[in-house]
Amino acid sequence: MPTDSAPAAGDLQPVTLPAVEDLDGWNDFLDQQVLGGLQRTRERVDALRATAPGDPASLPRWNDVHVDLGNAFAVAGLLSQVHPDAPLRERAEGYEQQLHELRTSLMLDPEVYAVLEAAPTDGLPDGAERVLEDALRSFRRSGVDRDEKTRARLRELSARGSDLGQAFSRNIRDGAGETRVPASALEGLPADYVESHPVAEDGTVTITTGYPDTNPFLMFSADREARHAVMHTFLNIGWPDNDPVLADLLKVRDEQARLLGYDSWPDYDAEEKMIGTGAAIAEFVDRVAQDATASAERDAAVLLERARQDHPDLERLDVADARYYGEVVRREQYDVDGQAVRAYFDSGRVRQGLLDVTGRLFGLEYLPVDAPSWHAEVATYDVVLVETGRRLGRIHLDLHPRSGKYNHAAQFDLVRGVAGRQLPEGVLVCNFGRTRMDHSEVVTLFHEFGHLLHHVLAGRHPWVRFSGVATEWDFVEAPSQMLEEWAWDHGVLAGFAVDADGTPIPEALVDRMRAAEEFGKGYYARTQMYYAAVSYRFHAELPADLTARSRELSDRYAVWGQVPDTHFHCGFGHLEGYGSGYYTYMWSLVIAKDLFSAFDAGDLFAPEVATRYRDTVLAAGGSRDAADLVEEFLGRPYDNRAFTAWLES
Ligand SMILES: [Zn+2]
Repeated sequence: MPTDSAPAAGDLQPVTLPAVEDLDGWNDFLDQQVLGGLQRTRERVDALRATAPGDPASLPRWNDVHVDLGNAFAVAGLLSQVHPDAPLRERAEGYEQQLHELRTSLMLDPEVYAVLEAAPTDGLPDGAERVLEDALRSFRRSGVDRDEKTRARLRELSARGSDLGQAFSRNIRDGAGETRVPASALEGLPADYVESHPVAEDGTVTITTGYPDTNPFLMFSADREARHAVMHTFLNIGWPDNDPVLADLLKVRDEQARLLGYDSWPDYDAEEKMIGTGAAIAEFVDRVAQDATASAERDAAVLLERARQDHPDLERLDVADARYYGEVVRREQYDVDGQAVRAYFDSGRVRQGLLDVTGRLFGLEYLPVDAPSWHAEVATYDVVLVETGRRLGRIHLDLHPRSGKYNHAAQFDLVRGVAGRQLPEGVLVCNFGRTRMDHSEVVTLFHEFGHLLHHVLAGRHPWVRFSGVATEWDFVEAPSQMLEEWAWDHGVLAGFAVDADGTPIPEALVDRMRAAEEFGKGYYARTQMYYAAVSYRFHAELPADLTARSRELSDRYAVWGQVPDTHFHCGFGHLEGYGSGYYTYMWSLVIAKDLFSAFDAGDLFAPEVATRYRDTVLAAGGSRDAADLVEEFLGRPYDNRAFTAWLES
């Protein structure tokens, strides 16, 4: 029963959103939040610039600037990706551009820099020194201390980079393709999938590049030719438009880095991360690829042997075969049938199960809220800390696909929490089916929810710089990847994974699912290192022919053959936001495995360790270096032993 939680007087209030059908209201909301936010930010910047050197007000004013700027960015960024109205999405995207420009000018403003350089930290709340150091470093990284001509060029490059980044993402979002395959190619696919793909008069069905369409097809369709056709379409998202866009983006980033005194974009980018340097990325990629080789080759040989039963002449599996035969081997050798598994994951139950599990684990309660949002399918909850009864924040779950919506899975901010000022609000944007879910989707949901919890739990710092997922970017994926472990535990799954008759998923099946999941982790790691190598080497080398370089890197790192005439890099959306830093997923996984080693595998709900993890690692947000948070939690520095043991087991 939806209730409006009744906060105590003085509690921070969530944002009031317009009603779903009130498009005028949404347009006004966008203007107020973003244009109004831009105006407020400019006023805050003026006040900061006018602060006398040495005035203790300077750092709090710097914080004020970022509260307003962050709020405007969050609303523009979210609505440009999720609002059902296309003109509104476009307007939000245009506003994002203006916000980037404002931020760029701010970070190139020598007067503001001078005020902060003179800022005292005495008598300010904890963390002031860290905020100041971070601010001064960000200023230097933007080039504020360079001559006027260089600053002007940096400003141009920043605007250009942001245009190109937006174009790259837009081409992926709008470049969704489809493939017509014979209706017979649906043989082997789940009944609900078949039902939702009507046969056209010419006897074909249409498979779009959306994940809920493409993924099951590649997993289950026995029609090799059709799989290749679907994979071909999928690996040509963004082609050819994104090829020159990406080449230009790489050049812009390289010039920015060099103007700022770095040897390359990866060096510039890595400076603020745990990894430190570009060269360390190359080493990390090669080390993981090396560590994974034996396991990758062993498991790939199993797939090939099985595939040869169907295609005796096959010499090497390619990317359009690997998922399918991975599924066949899981079914035949591990007795895990993805479709049978799917019968246990009703999407509504999974959602509730996720809330129950994370609530129990972290001492939280999620109260459904009957509040308006941008789409009727969005479910909103208040997050309450059980031990105090206080509302910590609000979350919005937007879990199903629709036209024009962001087509991946991610956590977005609506509001970054600031102690005493604003309540954190976060959004999960995913594209899961409305009826049944694959287990891999359940894992993704847990993963993304890990980000959402991080956002909410770390939303009570006075400095917005520390709020939410504000830690080093190569640590960001550690809490989310660790939470995936809960989606593999029978004790956890049994609470919500029940079939149509109400029978919980059997423990033996979960054991087999885990064994099947372990199968292929070596070749999975090699594929991930291929992506990481594309992300790093494209930025480090600026290859003249991106397709050719991508193919070479695939040969070097990935286990599978390629589908001819495809252009993976054009649809590789992470190249926009992650730049040269795709390695961060695996880097974070190394730490996630180490963090998880502190939990009792026999009782994932053991309260002491979960509470300690919540309070030391998650709630800290960006207030301390990630390595220090992890060390405090583990009682020792993190290392890669748990990770390599997992790879080799
Ligand atoms: Zn993630």
